[in-house]
Amino acid sequence: MSSVASAPVRVRFCPSPTGNPHVGLVRTALFNWAFAKHHQGTLVFRIEDTDAARDSEESYDQLLASLRWLGFDWDEGPEVGGPHAPYRQSQRMDIYKDVAQKLQDAGRAYHCYCSTAELDARRDAARAAGKPSGYDGHCRDLSAEQVEAYKAEGRTPIVRFRMPDETITFTDLVRGELTFTAENVPDYGIVRANGAPLYTLVNPVDDALMEITHVLRGEDLLSSTPRQIALYKALIDLGVAKEIPSFGHLPYVMGEGNKKLSKRDPESSLNLYRERGFLPEGLLNYLSLLGWSLSGDRDVFSMDEMVAAFEISDVNPNPARFDLKKCEAINADHIRLLDVKDFTERCAPWLQAPFAPWAPEDFDEAKWQAVAPHAQTRLKVLSEITDNVDFLFLAEPVEDEASWTKAMKEGSDALLRTAREKLESADWTSAEALKEAVLAAGETHGLKLGKAQAPVRVAVTGRTIGLPLFESLEILGKEKTLARIDAALAKLAA
Ligand code: GLU
Ligand code: ZN
Repeated sequence: MSSVASAPVRVRFCPSPTGNPHVGLVRTALFNWAFAKHHQGTLVFRIEDTDAARDSEESYDQLLASLRWLGFDWDEGPEVGGPHAPYRQSQRMDIYKDVAQKLQDAGRAYHCYCSTAELDARRDAARAAGKPSGYDGHCRDLSAEQVEAYKAEGRTPIVRFRMPDETITFTDLVRGELTFTAENVPDYGIVRANGAPLYTLVNPVDDALMEITHVLRGEDLLSSTPRQIALYKALIDLGVAKEIPSFGHLPYVMGEGNKKLSKRDPESSLNLYRERGFLPEGLLNYLSLLGWSLSGDRDVFSMDEMVAAFEISDVNPNPARFDLKKCEAINADHIRLLDVKDFTERCAPWLQAPFAPWAPEDFDEAKWQAVAPHAQTRLKVLSEITDNVDFLFLAEPVEDEASWTKAMKEGSDALLRTAREKLESADWTSAEALKEAVLAAGETHGLKLGKAQAPVRVAVTGRTIGLPLFESLEILGKEKTLARIDAALAKLAA
């Protein structure tokens, strides 16, 4: 165990239920989960749903379903409860109201009456003069008369937190010591004019009340950390918080063209990975590499191995690149690691409607069991199973014009006729014997095995690529194989 955590560790994962779950969110959940498990700590799952305009119940349900699919568990939060319930911020509004009032009573926050137009005008002027362009403290110390005058104008104030005029330094668990000077961290809003508390307030308040010891989150939130540290200090003075947590900011994830991967990019969508048939363990393995690695540079490992080895100090602060090819390669390795029975069961969704093009009654369990081991070593994602085995269950092979044109050359008809002849008299209990038959047919026409088997493959499966051909023929059976070669010969003759 590392020295990071001597007191019991309490970390939190606190997404907002907006839109579809995305890979950035999963990476954050994963690192918090691994950190908690590594330190035998507590993972708190909190829902940050105070933004009624953007949050949705549908998104909340999806979030939970996705986290469960990935295999995450949490010690406190929705569905499991805990000593700090409720864990949905929308049900904790009274708490935030109370804290906001306490901060104002203690002079740590104040009403700001500035309109957006006024703020914009002053910011532009400050910028033009080359001065810091954040909030200028205009309403920090309004007189009673000024307040009355603003009220008489019908203005409704926001609540602003009063930043101390001091430099804030903290040691980031990933990035080391970071310093923010006062002019770069102006007073900031914590409650909207309509009374709705903002993320800037509710997030540190709940971290304090839920006794979070380590805040691990994306680098995009780094700029809120000095604000939250100052707010924490005020909460400690008020007796609401005990101790400022440690912070660690996880690196950005870069997508195509070295741009930050956005949650709106299609390759961010967790649902997409699920539909394409990524295994949860394959996807998590890959996502763990976005900023971290297992010693010895082993790319493929289990979540247990990650948990055992995970140190937050090993996280690399540099941006990580999301590489779909590598993600698929790692997933392929995890598919190979499954035992065959598990593999066949996990393929089930893609052997049915809407993915499978064959009628349910044409599915043949024995053929599936026979072909599965050959498929298991070749899939990158489980959804590829459908195209790989459809030749077994469709009455006729799929028509793929590109494959046909590529495989059917001058002389292919002669080759197919010879192959048919040799296959007719071959031993159909041995894939090796079927291979010998096609090999012999090729020799007759001066063709190597690769060239000789291409037209046979397209005649029988419809495609130029697929599972090992001779095992496929054996499983499909003599009668169907020969009938398909006949059909191809008829098509070539036409
Ligand atoms: N609800 C915030 C988000 O999803 C949480 C940020 C944090 O971890 O502090 O961005
Ligand atoms: Zn103001």
